[in-house]
Amino acid sequence: MPDTVTLLIEPLPADDYDTPVDGTFREVDASAPALRVGELSTQRGDGIFETIGVVDGHAQEARPHLERLRNSARICELPEPNLRQWEAAIARAVDGIPSTGEFALKLVLSRGVEHGPAPTAWLHVAPAADFTRVRERGVRVATLDRGYARGTAERAPWLLLGAKTLSYAVNMAALREAKRRGADDAVFVTSDGYVMEGPTSSVILRHGDTWSTPAPSGAILHGTTQLSLFEHLASTGRSTEYRDIPVADLERADAAWLVSSVRLAVSITELDGRGMPSDPAETRALNEYLLSPRD
Ligand code: PLP
Repeated sequence: MPDTVTLLIEPLPADDYDTPVDGTFREVDASAPALRVGELSTQRGDGIFETIGVVDGHAQEARPHLERLRNSARICELPEPNLRQWEAAIARAVDGIPSTGEFALKLVLSRGVEHGPAPTAWLHVAPAADFTRVRERGVRVATLDRGYARGTAERAPWLLLGAKTLSYAVNMAALREAKRRGADDAVFVTSDGYVMEGPTSSVILRHGDTWSTPAPSGAILHGTTQLSLFEHLASTGRSTEYRDIPVADLERADAAWLVSSVRLAVSITELDGRGMPSDPAETRALNEYLLSPRD
Protein backbone atom coordinates (compact mmCIF):
# COMPACT_ATOMS: atom_id res chain seq x y z
CA MET A 1 0.00 0.00 0.00
CA PRO A 2 1.41 3.48 -0.88
CA ASP A 3 1.85 5.93 1.99
CA THR A 4 0.75 9.04 0.11
CA VAL A 5 -2.44 9.86 -1.78
CA THR A 6 -3.09 12.97 -3.87
CA LEU A 7 -6.54 13.86 -5.19
CA LEU A 8 -7.44 16.67 -7.59
CA ILE A 9 -10.92 17.90 -6.79
CA GLU A 10 -13.47 19.76 -8.94
CA PRO A 11 -15.18 21.89 -6.28
CA LEU A 12 -18.95 21.56 -6.17
CA PRO A 13 -21.16 24.46 -5.04
CA ALA A 14 -21.96 24.30 -1.32
CA ASP A 15 -25.67 23.80 -1.99
CA ASP A 16 -25.20 20.80 -4.31
CA TYR A 17 -26.67 17.94 -2.30
CA ASP A 18 -27.21 15.54 -5.22
CA THR A 19 -24.19 15.17 -7.53
CA PRO A 20 -22.43 11.87 -6.75
CA VAL A 21 -19.19 13.14 -5.27
CA ASP A 22 -17.01 10.19 -6.30
CA GLY A 23 -16.84 11.46 -9.88
CA THR A 24 -15.60 14.87 -8.73
CA PHE A 25 -12.11 13.87 -7.62
CA ARG A 26 -9.39 11.81 -9.20
CA GLU A 27 -6.16 10.45 -7.90
CA VAL A 28 -2.97 11.84 -9.42
CA ASP A 29 0.71 11.13 -9.06
CA ALA A 30 2.05 13.76 -6.63
CA SER A 31 5.43 13.77 -8.37
CA ALA A 32 3.90 14.61 -11.78
CA PRO A 33 2.85 18.17 -12.81
CA ALA A 34 -0.75 18.86 -11.83
CA LEU A 35 -1.29 22.63 -11.61
CA ARG A 36 -1.28 25.27 -14.33
CA VAL A 37 1.32 28.03 -14.25
CA GLY A 38 -1.47 30.61 -14.02
CA GLU A 39 -2.57 29.19 -10.63
CA LEU A 40 -3.21 32.05 -8.22
CA SER A 41 -2.34 29.81 -5.28
CA THR A 42 1.23 29.53 -6.49
CA GLN A 43 1.49 33.04 -7.97
CA ARG A 44 -0.05 34.98 -5.09
CA GLY A 45 -0.76 32.57 -2.29
CA ASP A 46 -4.40 33.35 -3.05
CA GLY A 47 -6.19 30.43 -1.53
CA ILE A 48 -6.84 28.69 1.76
CA PHE A 49 -5.85 25.41 3.33
CA GLU A 50 -6.22 23.07 6.28
CA THR A 51 -3.85 20.48 7.70
CA ILE A 52 -5.52 17.56 9.46
CA GLY A 53 -3.73 14.94 11.55
CA VAL A 54 -4.52 11.32 10.65
CA VAL A 55 -3.82 8.85 13.45
CA ASP A 56 -4.16 5.12 12.89
CA GLY A 57 -6.55 5.58 10.00
CA HIS A 58 -8.70 8.26 11.64
CA ALA A 59 -8.82 11.85 10.34
CA GLN A 60 -8.82 13.86 13.57
CA GLU A 61 -11.48 16.55 13.97
CA ALA A 62 -12.27 16.53 10.25
CA ARG A 63 -15.53 18.44 10.74
CA PRO A 64 -14.02 21.35 12.75
CA HIS A 65 -11.27 21.64 10.13
CA LEU A 66 -13.85 21.75 7.33
CA GLU A 67 -15.86 24.34 9.21
CA ARG A 68 -12.74 26.45 9.57
CA LEU A 69 -12.09 25.99 5.82
CA ARG A 70 -15.60 27.33 5.23
CA ASN A 71 -14.89 30.29 7.51
CA SER A 72 -11.60 31.03 5.72
CA ALA A 73 -13.47 30.89 2.38
CA ARG A 74 -15.99 33.41 3.69
CA ILE A 75 -13.26 35.81 4.88
CA CYS A 76 -11.39 35.48 1.55
CA GLU A 77 -14.57 35.72 -0.55
CA LEU A 78 -13.95 32.33 -2.14
CA PRO A 79 -16.90 30.09 -3.10
CA GLU A 80 -18.19 28.25 -0.06
CA PRO A 81 -16.78 24.69 -0.04
CA ASN A 82 -19.13 21.72 -0.28
CA LEU A 83 -18.38 19.90 2.98
CA ARG A 84 -20.08 16.67 1.83
CA GLN A 85 -17.63 16.55 -1.09
CA TRP A 86 -14.58 17.28 1.11
CA GLU A 87 -15.65 14.68 3.65
CA ALA A 88 -15.86 12.07 0.89
CA ALA A 89 -12.44 13.07 -0.48
CA ILE A 90 -10.91 12.80 3.02
CA ALA A 91 -12.48 9.35 3.48
CA ARG A 92 -11.17 8.18 0.09
CA ALA A 93 -7.62 9.46 0.86
CA VAL A 94 -7.56 7.89 4.32
CA ASP A 95 -8.73 4.59 2.80
CA GLY A 96 -5.69 4.64 0.54
CA ILE A 97 -3.02 4.89 3.26
CA PRO A 98 -1.90 2.40 5.91
CA SER A 99 -4.22 2.11 8.90
CA THR A 100 -1.47 2.63 11.44
CA GLY A 101 0.85 5.57 12.08
CA GLU A 102 0.58 9.35 11.93
CA PHE A 103 -0.06 11.26 8.70
CA ALA A 104 -0.63 14.88 7.69
CA LEU A 105 -3.54 15.49 5.34
CA LYS A 106 -3.57 18.85 3.60
CA LEU A 107 -6.61 20.35 1.85
CA VAL A 108 -6.17 23.30 -0.49
CA LEU A 109 -8.82 25.51 -2.06
CA SER A 110 -7.36 28.08 -4.43
CA ARG A 111 -8.96 30.94 -6.35
CA GLY A 112 -7.82 29.00 -9.42
CA VAL A 113 -6.34 30.25 -12.65
CA GLU A 114 -6.53 33.97 -13.44
CA HIS A 115 -9.74 34.56 -15.46
CA GLY A 116 -10.31 30.82 -15.18
CA PRO A 117 -13.75 29.33 -14.78
CA ALA A 118 -13.51 27.91 -11.28
CA PRO A 119 -11.47 27.55 -8.14
CA THR A 120 -9.10 24.60 -7.98
CA ALA A 121 -8.76 22.23 -5.09
CA TRP A 122 -6.66 19.32 -4.07
CA LEU A 123 -5.83 17.09 -1.14
CA HIS A 124 -2.55 15.41 -0.29
CA VAL A 125 -1.88 12.99 2.54
CA ALA A 126 1.64 11.85 3.47
CA PRO A 127 3.42 10.43 6.54
CA ALA A 128 3.90 13.00 9.31
CA ALA A 129 7.38 13.84 10.55
CA ASP A 130 8.34 11.98 13.72
CA PHE A 131 7.53 14.41 16.55
CA THR A 132 8.13 11.96 19.41
CA ARG A 133 11.27 13.72 20.60
CA VAL A 134 9.92 17.27 20.48
CA ARG A 135 6.75 16.14 22.30
CA GLU A 136 9.01 14.88 25.08
CA ARG A 137 11.58 17.66 25.15
CA GLY A 138 9.56 20.72 24.18
CA VAL A 139 10.69 23.84 22.31
CA ARG A 140 12.58 27.03 23.04
CA VAL A 141 10.50 29.98 21.90
CA ALA A 142 11.26 33.56 20.84
CA THR A 143 8.50 36.17 21.08
CA LEU A 144 8.24 38.20 17.87
CA ASP A 145 6.30 41.41 17.27
CA ARG A 146 3.62 40.69 14.65
CA GLY A 147 3.52 44.41 13.90
CA TYR A 148 -0.20 44.82 14.60
CA ALA A 149 -1.94 46.23 17.66
CA ARG A 150 -4.94 44.52 19.26
CA GLY A 151 -8.08 45.34 17.26
CA THR A 152 -6.33 45.35 13.88
CA ALA A 153 -8.48 42.52 12.53
CA GLU A 154 -11.62 44.65 13.03
CA ARG A 155 -10.04 47.82 11.66
CA ALA A 156 -8.44 46.15 8.63
CA PRO A 157 -10.37 43.00 7.65
CA TRP A 158 -8.55 42.91 4.28
CA LEU A 159 -5.50 41.63 6.15
CA LEU A 160 -7.45 38.31 6.38
CA LEU A 161 -5.93 37.72 9.82
CA GLY A 162 -8.40 35.08 10.97
CA ALA A 163 -8.24 33.04 7.74
CA LYS A 164 -5.89 30.15 7.10
CA THR A 165 -4.57 31.45 3.79
CA LEU A 166 -1.77 29.98 1.72
CA SER A 167 0.29 33.14 2.32
CA TYR A 168 2.60 31.65 4.94
CA ALA A 169 5.82 33.40 3.85
CA VAL A 170 5.61 35.68 6.93
CA ASN A 171 5.08 32.69 9.23
CA MET A 172 8.09 30.89 7.72
CA ALA A 173 10.20 34.06 8.04
CA ALA A 174 9.25 34.20 11.74
CA LEU A 175 10.52 30.64 12.22
CA ARG A 176 13.84 31.58 10.58
CA GLU A 177 14.10 34.64 12.85
CA ALA A 178 13.39 32.46 15.89
CA LYS A 179 16.24 30.15 14.85
CA ARG A 180 18.58 33.13 14.42
CA ARG A 181 17.73 34.02 18.03
CA GLY A 182 18.68 30.53 19.19
CA ALA A 183 15.10 29.29 19.59
CA ASP A 184 13.16 26.50 17.89
CA ASP A 185 9.84 28.23 17.40
CA ALA A 186 8.11 31.59 17.79
CA VAL A 187 5.14 33.21 19.49
CA PHE A 188 3.74 36.28 17.78
CA VAL A 189 2.81 39.18 20.05
CA THR A 190 0.79 42.29 19.18
CA SER A 191 2.68 45.56 18.95
CA ASP A 192 0.99 46.49 22.27
CA GLY A 193 2.33 43.40 24.00
CA TYR A 194 -0.35 40.69 23.94
CA VAL A 195 0.19 37.03 23.11
CA MET A 196 -1.25 35.96 19.75
CA GLU A 197 -0.22 32.53 18.40
CA GLY A 198 2.73 30.62 16.99
CA PRO A 199 3.42 30.75 13.23
CA THR A 200 1.88 27.25 12.94
CA SER A 201 0.32 26.68 16.37
CA SER A 202 -1.90 28.04 19.14
CA VAL A 203 -0.63 29.02 22.58
CA ILE A 204 -2.14 27.68 25.78
CA LEU A 205 -0.90 28.27 29.30
CA ARG A 206 -1.69 27.22 32.82
CA HIS A 207 -1.61 29.32 35.99
CA GLY A 208 -2.41 27.12 39.00
CA ASP A 209 -5.51 25.21 37.93
CA THR A 210 -6.63 27.64 35.25
CA TRP A 211 -5.86 27.07 31.60
CA SER A 212 -5.99 30.05 29.27
CA THR A 213 -5.53 30.91 25.63
CA PRO A 214 -5.78 34.20 23.73
CA ALA A 215 -9.36 35.14 22.85
CA PRO A 216 -9.99 34.22 19.19
CA SER A 217 -10.64 37.85 18.27
CA GLY A 218 -10.26 37.47 14.51
CA ALA A 219 -6.56 38.40 14.62
CA ILE A 220 -5.51 34.78 15.10
CA LEU A 221 -6.59 31.44 13.79
CA HIS A 222 -8.95 29.60 16.10
CA GLY A 223 -6.99 26.35 16.54
CA THR A 224 -8.88 23.07 16.32
CA THR A 225 -6.36 21.44 18.66
CA GLN A 226 -6.76 24.15 21.29
CA LEU A 227 -10.56 23.91 21.04
CA SER A 228 -10.49 20.14 21.38
CA LEU A 229 -8.10 20.31 24.35
CA PHE A 230 -10.21 22.90 26.14
CA GLU A 231 -13.34 20.75 25.68
CA HIS A 232 -11.42 17.79 27.05
CA LEU A 233 -10.02 19.77 29.99
CA ALA A 234 -13.44 21.21 30.83
CA SER A 235 -14.98 17.73 30.68
CA THR A 236 -12.46 16.56 33.26
CA GLY A 237 -13.34 19.42 35.62
CA ARG A 238 -10.54 21.84 34.80
CA SER A 239 -11.15 25.55 34.44
CA THR A 240 -10.49 27.09 31.02
CA GLU A 241 -10.75 30.66 29.80
CA TYR A 242 -10.28 32.84 26.72
CA ARG A 243 -8.76 36.22 27.51
CA ASP A 244 -6.29 38.88 26.45
CA ILE A 245 -2.92 37.63 27.67
CA PRO A 246 -0.12 40.16 28.22
CA VAL A 247 3.33 38.72 27.45
CA ALA A 248 4.20 39.06 31.18
CA ASP A 249 1.46 36.47 31.94
CA LEU A 250 3.09 34.00 29.58
CA GLU A 251 6.44 34.63 31.28
CA ARG A 252 4.86 33.88 34.68
CA ALA A 253 2.88 30.79 33.59
CA ASP A 254 3.28 27.54 35.54
CA ALA A 255 3.49 25.78 32.18
CA ALA A 256 2.79 26.69 28.56
CA TRP A 257 2.39 24.79 25.31
CA LEU A 258 2.25 25.27 21.56
CA VAL A 259 -0.49 23.06 20.15
CA SER A 260 -1.30 22.12 16.55
CA SER A 261 -2.93 19.36 14.55
CA VAL A 262 0.07 17.25 13.56
CA ARG A 263 2.86 18.06 16.03
CA LEU A 264 0.21 18.12 18.81
CA ALA A 265 1.23 19.56 22.24
CA VAL A 266 4.80 20.65 22.90
CA SER A 267 5.98 22.41 26.04
CA ILE A 268 7.56 25.83 25.90
CA THR A 269 10.77 25.20 27.83
CA GLU A 270 12.42 28.57 27.26
CA LEU A 271 11.01 32.00 26.45
CA ASP A 272 13.41 34.55 24.98
CA GLY A 273 16.34 32.71 26.54
CA ARG A 274 14.82 32.34 30.03
CA GLY A 275 13.85 28.89 31.30
CA MET A 276 10.13 28.15 31.74
CA PRO A 277 8.71 25.53 34.10
CA SER A 278 7.22 22.58 32.25
CA ASP A 279 5.03 19.68 33.24
CA PRO A 280 6.11 16.49 31.42
CA ALA A 281 3.35 14.34 32.94
CA GLU A 282 0.67 16.81 31.85
CA THR A 283 2.23 17.07 28.37
CA ARG A 284 2.12 13.29 28.02
CA ALA A 285 -1.52 13.24 29.14
CA LEU A 286 -2.43 15.97 26.64
CA ASN A 287 -0.78 14.07 23.79
CA GLU A 288 -2.37 10.82 24.83
CA TYR A 289 -5.73 12.51 24.53
CA LEU A 290 -4.78 14.17 21.22
CA LEU A 291 -3.69 10.82 19.76
CA SER A 292 -6.99 9.15 20.64
CA PRO A 293 -9.67 9.11 17.90
CA ARG A 294 -11.40 12.52 17.88
CA ASP A 295 -14.31 13.84 15.78
N1 PLP B 1 -2.27 29.25 14.29
C1 PLP B 1 -1.67 29.17 13.08
C2 PLP B 1 -1.16 30.42 12.45
C3 PLP B 1 -1.53 27.93 12.44
O1 PLP B 1 -0.94 27.86 11.24
C4 PLP B 1 -2.03 26.77 13.07
C5 PLP B 1 -1.90 25.45 12.44
O2 PLP B 1 -1.24 25.28 11.45
C6 PLP B 1 -2.62 26.89 14.32
C7 PLP B 1 -2.75 28.14 14.90
C8 PLP B 1 -3.15 25.67 15.05
O3 PLP B 1 -4.29 25.20 14.42
P1 PLP B 1 -4.75 23.69 14.52
O4 PLP B 1 -4.73 23.31 15.95
O5 PLP B 1 -6.11 23.68 13.94
O6 PLP B 1 -3.75 22.89 13.73
